[in-house]
Amino acid sequence: MKKHNFYAGPSILPQYTVDKTIEAIREYEGTGLSLLEISHRSKEFDQTMADAANLFKDLLSVPSGYSVIFVGGGASTQFFHVPYNLLQTKAAYLDTGAWSFKAIKEAKLFGEVDVTASSADKNYTYIPKDFTIPQDVDYFHITSNNTIRGTEILKDYDSPVPLVADMSSDIFSRPVDVSKYGLIYGGAQKNLAPAGVTFVVVREDILGKVDRPLPTMVDYRTHIKKGSLFNTPPVVSIYSALQTMKWLKNLGGVEAMEKMNIEKSNMLYEEIERNKLFRCTVPDPADRSRMNVTFLMKDEYQELTSAFLAFASERGMVGIKGHRDAGGFRASLYNALPLESVQALVSCMKEFEAKN
Ligand code: PMP
Repeated sequence: MKKHNFYAGPSILPQYTVDKTIEAIREYEGTGLSLLEISHRSKEFDQTMADAANLFKDLLSVPSGYSVIFVGGGASTQFFHVPYNLLQTKAAYLDTGAWSFKAIKEAKLFGEVDVTASSADKNYTYIPKDFTIPQDVDYFHITSNNTIRGTEILKDYDSPVPLVADMSSDIFSRPVDVSKYGLIYGGAQKNLAPAGVTFVVVREDILGKVDRPLPTMVDYRTHIKKGSLFNTPPVVSIYSALQTMKWLKNLGGVEAMEKMNIEKSNMLYEEIERNKLFRCTVPDPADRSRMNVTFLMKDEYQELTSAFLAFASERGMVGIKGHRDAGGFRASLYNALPLESVQALVSCMKEFEAKN
């Protein structure tokens, strides 16, 4: 049976990426070797690395003065690499969920942290609006998409200090004005590649301003200078990321993705609102994520939660159980998820409603 993959990450990738990666694992670009066996210092891989950084820049219209690097360690490693490189005395953070909270915890190891606004008072079900980004801080950090709670910041803030964003779960889902950011980072395992690679886009002039000594691997300038080849990078994930970016470019880039993501997420949110059994977790439509749609059974139907999960699973839906912190359901609608999968989930919700 066809599976509809709603996992939050690792998650669905374009079939093109999967096929191209399998091909390269069999034989990498006519070298007679598998992608699993080639040197990261071979000229063929050098090309892949350069192409990946260039296409990344092309797709997001990254202005000059910025570098794109690929490193290991996941977004969680960036939670401390960011303050290590940028926090001299004080940083400001927007607290919009578990991932922001974890980033804040790490930053506190390096200096003062101003939690400018938080939505913890309502279980992170909204994006704070009434706040002013402080001017006396080294940077302001946001999590643009809150994978667990299903909220998303869909605009690029004007910030008086370098704006730093964790875009792990919404990179390439919409056009982003990179010139408004000092640094953007994320784990690639949602919209880009299999787990293993982390992307960092950084404006070079914000680096080198802290007094503390930086371990070589932590210093972003090391990876910029060496074209992400200072140490052995996650070769397979980078190759897959390049394939996803080619697929994306071919479909019309981030503008086309945004259109599709609006269509897919609207379709599901409309059904949640219409269906007598369900309700949206995030009350304000303006705060609802296009990537991770979170929803619940209405209070009077709570006992149907596990029955719905079983019902959906029988119809090929995979990964719609909500995160353990949030409960209920979460359908992740990343770029590679076809409209057809959203239609299948909507039909399944209608069918379940008719039976109950
Ligand atoms: N930030 C966000 C928004 C995430 O969704 C995740 C992973 N789900 C992380 C950070 C942590 O990423 P990693 O597992 O790559 O460390």
